[in-house]
Amino acid sequence: MRVEIISVGDELLIGQTVNTNASWMGQQLLNMGVVVDWVTIVGDSHERLKLAMTTAASRADVVIITGGLGPTHDDITKAVVADYFGARFVVNEEVLERVRERFRKRGLQMAKVNEGQALVPENAEIIVNELGTAPGMVFRTTEKLFYVMPGVPGEMKAMMMDAVLPQLKTRLSGSAVRVKNLMTTGVPESALFERLDNLDEIQKYAKVAFLPNLLGVKIRILAKGNDDADATENLRRAEMLLRDKIGGEIFTDHDISLEETVAALLVERGETIAVAESCTGGMIANRLTNIPGSSRFFDRSIVAYSNSAKMQLLQVPAGLIDAYGAVSFQVAQAMAAGARTMAQTDYGLSVTGIAGPGGGTAAKPVGLVFIGYADENETVSEKWTFADDRIGNKQRATQAALNLLRKKIMTRKL
Ligand code: ATP
Ligand code: MG
Repeated sequence: MRVEIISVGDELLIGQTVNTNASWMGQQLLNMGVVVDWVTIVGDSHERLKLAMTTAASRADVVIITGGLGPTHDDITKAVVADYFGARFVVNEEVLERVRERFRKRGLQMAKVNEGQALVPENAEIIVNELGTAPGMVFRTTEKLFYVMPGVPGEMKAMMMDAVLPQLKTRLSGSAVRVKNLMTTGVPESALFERLDNLDEIQKYAKVAFLPNLLGVKIRILAKGNDDADATENLRRAEMLLRDKIGGEIFTDHDISLEETVAALLVERGETIAVAESCTGGMIANRLTNIPGSSRFFDRSIVAYSNSAKMQLLQVPAGLIDAYGAVSFQVAQAMAAGARTMAQTDYGLSVTGIAGPGGGTAAKPVGLVFIGYADENETVSEKWTFADDRIGNKQRATQAALNLLRKKIMTRKL
């Protein structure tokens, strides 16, 4: 089943409204195994919307249109649809009564333009609008199916749930789609790709996509099959091959954050953490304490920004700062170990770096960050060089610190 979404509205073209309707519909359709083939955005223009419909009908089986159904002058969708099908307008008494009833209930005078809501093309089937006045419409030709819904997201969603998705479901047979997202962090997209080595082998079973953002790379696996079991099996095979190569970089395959993953590990093991933060300024603490029940594993974070704070609050030796500078492997380790010792926790984690935009030198450029880690057996630190703006560098440093902690915990026996 080929599906095209047409989103109507000048506001979408000029960037005043983001096309969340299309993305929401895309997700809902994917959940039932349908991948949308095209999304078209078109302005409030009779001629262009008609052309968009003609184009959509030439390539898709199902066309879903939203927006421009209201009663005002710039709402042209209904007129275009009637024109496209060569249909007359007729008054739909049921819709008229519903619109009247809505106004009556609110004790409001109904504006004359609203009577127009009850005028619908003669060949339209109505989708009742429980939340607004503009009815949705369905048009069936021998081969094609057109849905027309209001642009108001709540009204569109209700109609999708009540009418469109159930109807489309009955048309589906002989195919299924399964999707899984594997979340990674700390390894660039290109390096992940190289480590996967033979992507063709994996892609025999499923389509693999890399979706990078500031904090990591999401790997989306999309598997098809003749039925649900078949698609599930293809997904499983592709995932197995992927995990074989890069399993250690994947922190979750659920819709959860890195801090939630770390928190779950700590709670499961009954272990605790203390943090020492310089350039992240408390961001690690913020993310960890966003998790309900964080007191079970989070003891404290010391924001030790100045050298004297590092010495006073974390017992970092002055000599270490003099010899190596505050942004160094050695000081990161001393901070992590200091936090752990002061707090008597299982783990100590630290960050020291240069967030920018100022403060960089040739030897220690903006974005240089050291992450320290300490447990009862070892104290280590990692060097990272990020190339973002100040906030981006803080976010990346926070992510790298949480990921170092995650990796260390994973390798320790309970
Ligand atoms: P109404 O009957 O309320 O006039 P309508 O069908 O005419 O509904 P529009 O006027 O096109 O809908 O849009 C109504 C609201 O919904 C606007 O605030 C608009 O920004 C928003 N909207 C329209 N299309 C989309 C879309 N594709 N994604 C997200 N929001 C949208
Ligand atoms: Mg409108």
